Amino acid sequence: MKKIIQFKKNNFIKKIIYLDLKNNKYSQIHTRFPPEPNGYLHLGHAKALCLNFGIANDYQGYCNLRFDDTNPKKTKKKYINSIINDIQWLGFKWNGKIHYTSEYFKILYEYAIQLINKELAYVDLLDKNQIKEYRGTLTQKGKNSPYRNHTIEQNIKLFRQMQNGELNPGTACLRAKIDMESNYMIMRDPVLYRIIFSKNDSNHHKWYIYPTYDFSHCISDSIEGITHSLCTLEFTENKKIYDWILKNINIKNIPKQYEYSRLQLEYSILSKRKLQTLIDNKIVKGWDDPRMPTISGLKRRGYTPQSITNFCKKIGITKQENIIELSLLECCIRNELNYTAPRIMAILNPIKIIITNYPINYVEKLIVPNHPNRPELGTRTLLFYREIYIDQSDFSEEDNPNYKRLTLKQEVRLRYSYVIQAYKIKKDINNNIKIIYCKYDPKTLGKSPDNRKIKGVIHWIASNNICKAEFHIYNRLFTIPNPENNKNFLNYINKQSLIIKKGLIESNIINNHDQLTYQFEREGYFYMEKTKKNHFIFNQVTTLRENKKNKNKILKK
Ligand code: ATP
Ligand code: MG
Repeated sequence: MKKIIQFKKNNFIKKIIYLDLKNNKYSQIHTRFPPEPNGYLHLGHAKALCLNFGIANDYQGYCNLRFDDTNPKKTKKKYINSIINDIQWLGFKWNGKIHYTSEYFKILYEYAIQLINKELAYVDLLDKNQIKEYRGTLTQKGKNSPYRNHTIEQNIKLFRQMQNGELNPGTACLRAKIDMESNYMIMRDPVLYRIIFSKNDSNHHKWYIYPTYDFSHCISDSIEGITHSLCTLEFTENKKIYDWILKNINIKNIPKQYEYSRLQLEYSILSKRKLQTLIDNKIVKGWDDPRMPTISGLKRRGYTPQSITNFCKKIGITKQENIIELSLLECCIRNELNYTAPRIMAILNPIKIIITNYPINYVEKLIVPNHPNRPELGTRTLLFYREIYIDQSDFSEEDNPNYKRLTLKQEVRLRYSYVIQAYKIKKDINNNIKIIYCKYDPKTLGKSPDNRKIKGVIHWIASNNICKAEFHIYNRLFTIPNPENNKNFLNYINKQSLIIKKGLIESNIINNHDQLTYQFEREGYFYMEKTKKNHFIFNQVTTLRENKKNKNKILKK
């Protein structure tokens, strides 16, 4: 145990934990991941998952999963299920059973009564606007509500009426009696309970009142024996309430809250509410649209759990607000797939070639490797035939010395195959090239010609070796790097975020059912969606190379 602890302190939270263990403050570390089931998990949650489960793992402690279902109007079963699936897919195992804040509603209620009895909480009958007005501002102190001096009996009676559904939403709330003149706005009598009438009550006991995050979170942490309650920086001020409540109720375990910076990712939005706006406005097709930075979107896009957890490792945990470059995420999946993905040829924009000097009805079988550096991934057979397809971008009518592909003057090598030379093209009435006529050099299979140098190698597929396929090419969803901080983020949607191409792929994929991810030679990494029989859809995971120099991956705000 000692040895493990010594080496696992590579961020400020782990340093705190290391010292807590060294000083015997705790014998066992206990963290939790507390999602609100009001949407799907995104990459920001992956960061929180890696931190909380990572700590439990490094220090042989525990990490609980607790759904923060304190708002019945937002909680949905489908979100709970998707969150559970995503956590399991990422490979994390929570401690014991899954917890729900609603399990503790009775206990929370008792603690609220305790605060009322200690004259530390009261039922306020001001309405929402009045509460806001009485709260004051950063420069102006707040003033006491006229209901602040209710007796204990009056408060108990009103609180019970709230709970019995006798008071309407918005007409009463339970507030902590702290200090309306506090320099911290948050300590100006924060709301602990509000009335919500909801049909959507998953709890057996019918509730008309629901605890706020501030009231429920600290108590739930304490009940579960959490030692370190880790959350993002926007909760820094809430820590004051967290500590105040635990100090003022009779409860044994006192967890401590620590804050770290939220993940922000270039050209992306990481907030469930804003992601929901993208869905509502039909900018994407759902939570698991491959353009979404959600775990399920990334999964459909072809990211692996390991690439996501690796990314989280690379960004680390600090208190500094950074925007992480998208290329760092792409780099994590690219490095992994470069090693694992078998190569195959796919033509995204097909154009037909007829090799007129190749014998009619003749077919050659070429045995080619599935991976250039990993012979253990085996070989496959490519058919060679006089009719083949190449990509439109690999042929140019104009001759340019910098263009290293096929022209009417320039020879090119077909990958794993012969050198060909174009000599004539046939166009349709719209002036689009329909067929390129070529000649091949029969002496160049796997050999360079003696007397000349071939500049380029292009990919191809023979017309008797193809399957039709649809390719979904993804680009960033926003045109500005920081949409998260722009109120009008909907004005900056990239209209080219999805481009669909209909093309061809080697029919060899049909026999390889379990293989879903490929590197398409010269095109990029693609992931096969499980679709109908012989109708293939491939999502582009990422490009083969990064487009720009990637020196400084973390942009300072
Ligand atoms: P959202 O704004 O997307 O709804 P949230 O903070 O309200 O996010 P919760 O479901 O309450 O989401 O979050 C569960 C945990 O994940 C919390 O501990 C929260 O701090 C953490 N978390 C959420 N977003 C991020 C992020 N972008 N970076 C790091 N941690 C995050
Ligand atoms: Mg939230």
